[in-house]
Amino acid sequence: MKTKLYQSLFLGITSAIAASASYALITPQNETQASMENLATTTAVIPSIYETTANFLGHTAELEQPIKPRYIEHKIKTNETLSSIFPLYNINSSTLEKITKANKIGARFADLMVNKVLIIELDDAYKLQRLVYKKDIVNTLVATRNADGFDVRMDSRPLDKHETLAQGTIKSSLSADGAKAGLSASIINKLADKIFAWDIDFNKDLQPNDKFTVIYEETSVDGKRLKTGEVLAAEFVISGKSYSAIRYKDKEGNIEYYSPQGKNVVRKVRKTFLRSPIAFARISSHFNLHRKHPVLNRIRAHKGVDYAARSGTPIKTTGDGKIIFRGRKGGYGNVVIVQHNKKYKSLYAHMSKFNGKYKLGSTVKQGAVVGYVGKTGLATGAHLHYEFLVNGVHKNPLTVKLPRTEIKEDKVFLARFKKQAQPYVDQLNQATTETAEIKVDKLLSKKTKKL
Ligand SMILES: [Zn+2]
Repeated sequence: MKTKLYQSLFLGITSAIAASASYALITPQNETQASMENLATTTAVIPSIYETTANFLGHTAELEQPIKPRYIEHKIKTNETLSSIFPLYNINSSTLEKITKANKIGARFADLMVNKVLIIELDDAYKLQRLVYKKDIVNTLVATRNADGFDVRMDSRPLDKHETLAQGTIKSSLSADGAKAGLSASIINKLADKIFAWDIDFNKDLQPNDKFTVIYEETSVDGKRLKTGEVLAAEFVISGKSYSAIRYKDKEGNIEYYSPQGKNVVRKVRKTFLRSPIAFARISSHFNLHRKHPVLNRIRAHKGVDYAARSGTPIKTTGDGKIIFRGRKGGYGNVVIVQHNKKYKSLYAHMSKFNGKYKLGSTVKQGAVVGYVGKTGLATGAHLHYEFLVNGVHKNPLTVKLPRTEIKEDKVFLARFKKQAQPYVDQLNQATTETAEIKVDKLLSKKTKKL
């Protein structure tokens, strides 16, 4: 019976059960002097039992078994611990010790969280039989009386990790319509800020009737979503143009999103360079080969872009590369130069300090913080001076054509990519076909299918 009741607890206890349970506390059968005393203590707690019931799970469970007379749901209040809760129900301190010291898990009864519910089951003599604490949706701590003390264990429900496909049509915004399609906020952020940030401006580009399909990892317990993980593949069709991204892990374990571009061509979704090393910073001085220098007060080419930012603002390297200079250099003050490949170099000047994590010769990934805004060298105020060089020639970082990585002739890569990506390409393809509204585009063309 206990088992049955215990199960029904997790299905949801009706207020009727708990109300009867608390009623039973007021008028216990087989009253003894001891239990009457006990009553005096427990009566004071009854309102909280009602309160608990109202908030607890809150749906009807079929009641097949008779109600356990001394069944209490105790809603945990601030600063409460078992040693302050037990006396309320006349449970002695030796019981407490038997539970908490039963084994390693017993000690975990020490971390009770406010507003969670502790289920206390007493026998007719008000002796604790079972204590249940539902820590979270997955884990439940259970202490059950046995011959010589308590058997304490953690019941963990199995997690179901799987892939899910969600699809939607834009009516107002990605956040609203994404949520409607079942996407979590975390998935929406990944799509907008991480995966498609180089291709789609979700504030400006999205139009009503644009479509999206997203395949992502999801972990659930008993069919209920617990959390979402990575985006595995996604496609946006914006004004008829398709943008796709498929997550791919290479042999070295690097994870990138790629977009199939027809037969045997795969493009990295992420651009090789960020447009700016500081997001949302105001440009205080543009690239200008005939500028009058504010400190030197004479015409001197300004071969970079200045970003006004508070001293200490993190500066991100705009592309993957290697630090080839890190130190003091005349008017630049503290400067970091990153070599990206043979062709490209970027320079970050006037730093207040460097990021100690990277040294001269360190490899850096795009977006890595190489230093912090300052006003070292020839600078009137705190700002970042950013230069971008193509084959040794200074280019305007705001207008220079930034490259994209395309993989064309690497058979090994393409074969491996195809193996990982094809199931997702097929799923996106199928999902899109099923809606029958989207004009089949690049990704979904027969050509691409062969990859
Ligand atoms: Zn400058």
